Amino acid sequence: MSPQSPFQILRIRSTFRLNGSFDEIEAIFCKCSACDYVARLSKAQGLSQAPDMIVLTCPDCGAAADVQVPELREKWAEQVRRDRLLWGAGIDPDDLYGP
Ligand SMILES: [Zn+2]
Repeated sequence: MSPQSPFQILRIRSTFRLNGSFDEIEAIFCKCSACDYVARLSKAQGLSQAPDMIVLTCPDCGAAADVQVPELREKWAEQVRRDRLLWGAGIDPDDLYGP
């Protein structure tokens, strides 16, 4: 497995999406760099969660990668900052990504 993650994480959906804390991950929208497939991975499909990392598996080509929790926290913090701007503009950021 290459050290560079084959997945580009587009959005993390967590149980506590508004208060800025980061706990249980519900789903991750990501793009597979191997096949360009954009997927919503959840525990039902393609996502498994361990205490310090999650493992993503592309439902299309089967590429897999782990993402460490510190990296996810960083992305989550970024996303929360961006979401505040969107909320301020009257846009529900989750609407941009579908259910
Ligand atoms: Zn793929």
